[in-house]
Amino acid sequence: MPGTLEELIALPGVGRKTANVVLGNAFGVPGITVDTHVGRLARRFGWTEESAPEKVEADLMQLFPPAEWTDLSHRMILHGRRVCHARNPACDACPLAALCPSSTASSAGKSATPKSASTSRAKARA
Ligand code: SF4
Repeated sequence: MPGTLEELIALPGVGRKTANVVLGNAFGVPGITVDTHVGRLARRFGWTEESAPEKVEADLMQLFPPAEWTDLSHRMILHGRRVCHARNPACDACPLAALCPSSTASSAGKSATPKSASTSRAKARA
């Protein structure tokens, strides 16, 4: 099996999402997998305004160091499946509610962007 993004996406039926899953889990190569959960949560957290997966991926790559990418994707997918549902996010039961700018829970209102990530993104835009 190929071990690079370019080689993997050249295979029939393999896109960036699948390629990043394979690279991160089979080869230990950092990658951000942007599925529907990761895209939705990234927008709810205020980490991106993009909807195209490649653009969401690029924004998250600027915010987090490569060592975080694979696990970040797993965490976001799990949180999206279990708590931050597309139509009815469980904000009142969400451990991130106090940090999430999209929270509808009473403790909502603060930014979920880590300070270091905010700084990185500001630098990237400068
Ligand atoms: S507070 Fe609500 S919108 Fe924010 S991550 Fe949690 S469930 Fe999603």
